[in-house]
Amino acid sequence: MSELDLLVRGGTVVTPVGRRRLDVGVQDGVVVTLGSEAPSSRRTVDARGLVILPGGVDTHVHLMDPGSTEREDFPTGTAAAAVAVGTTVVEHSHGSPVRSTDDLADKRSYLSGRSRVDYGLAAHAWPGRAADVERLWAAGVSFFKVFTCTTHGVPGHDAAALRTHLRATADVGAVSLVHCEDESITGSAEELLRSEGRRDAGLLLDWRDRDAEVVAAGVTALLVRRTGARATVAHVSHPEVADLVARERSAGARLTAEGCPQYFLLREDEVHEHGALRKFTPPARARTDDDEARMWRLLRDGVLTHISTDHAPSTLEQKRAGDMWNVHFGLPGLDSTMPLLLDAVARGHLAYEDVARVYAEVPARTYGLWPRKGRVGVGADADLVLVDPTATRVLRNEDVLSKAGWTPYLGRRVSGRVVQTYLRGELVAEEGTPAPGTGGRFLPGPGARP
Ligand SMILES: [Zn+2]
Repeated sequence: MSELDLLVRGGTVVTPVGRRRLDVGVQDGVVVTLGSEAPSSRRTVDARGLVILPGGVDTHVHLMDPGSTEREDFPTGTAAAAVAVGTTVVEHSHGSPVRSTDDLADKRSYLSGRSRVDYGLAAHAWPGRAADVERLWAAGVSFFKVFTCTTHGVPGHDAAALRTHLRATADVGAVSLVHCEDESITGSAEELLRSEGRRDAGLLLDWRDRDAEVVAAGVTALLVRRTGARATVAHVSHPEVADLVARERSAGARLTAEGCPQYFLLREDEVHEHGALRKFTPPARARTDDDEARMWRLLRDGVLTHISTDHAPSTLEQKRAGDMWNVHFGLPGLDSTMPLLLDAVARGHLAYEDVARVYAEVPARTYGLWPRKGRVGVGADADLVLVDPTATRVLRNEDVLSKAGWTPYLGRRVSGRVVQTYLRGELVAEEGTPAPGTGGRFLPGPGARP
């Protein structure tokens, strides 16, 4: 073999089924050797004492670009991703939804040269437009985002529209990411709360309650099974939803269940103190340490199949500019998700193998990026996250690279730190600082036709 471009030597390589001390040899952006007898290399990185994870794959992020770039844009959002997540995101933004192949082509050409990590793009399902599913899937979208409730200006699907959409996706093998909150429940709650003149922060919990999510997740899971479609239940907020998805999965539904850190680590009652800084939906549900531990257990056991950030940033100014009814939903998260998962390892909730599974392998498999993404293995892209398991730090607003400029986990001490990120063998971030350059490439979805 000729000389390697890069050799990452002496680190502990993590796969979902175990970890081993291995040298990772890279040529032309791809892992070509994995072992202990590596050939010579132009560049060698000493990874002794470090854990090597596959580059994180975050499949639910909103970078608001084009659209609301005062909230986020691709260069800043993917800087946060390179520093803290890894190497791949799948993006969709509600303010500028992709509904047609022209929308996708425009977005692709606009984003060329704007991303620091590799990226896929999702489309928005739209009631009455299921006929576009086939063309969009063939054009290379990663998945279809579906709302069951009208949110962020995107119209909700009732059961009939959802069934029509799922049938169209089943016909072509496409996958959907479904936001599950029942419109009739959230809508009537909103009417009542407004008529009562409610303006307090706690209204969020009455507006978007557990029943709304369970009902919509139940309808979604049933229709996914009955249509033979594939779908992910987005941002599962509490164990009852996870258990429901698991039941339908064992009955044959092709369902995955997405977890997000805010449903493990933020508590339901924080909204009273923090107001709009806890306005996201479904809202946080955990009330006790036991609730948190149960969510980690569901993730470890594979009931919650993978983790995404649902990065939907607003600045502090934007969050403070209105009341609970009119400020944006959403939290920033790209800066914090991997640090929180590494900390969950330090606290004994997860193993590194779980992190490799839930934040790389399963999302990559679910959205057609496997085996090129989501693993450290011969033939895969050399997407590597080098972690110092002993480093600790306190999460601070000053360190947030997202335009949001704040973190809901302010002041939390976390163990484990990403020290370097390699995208296809190129160093894209080191010690919290992104490298210059925006060499991220578009990743067509699995249905893409040339
Ligand atoms: Zn989202």
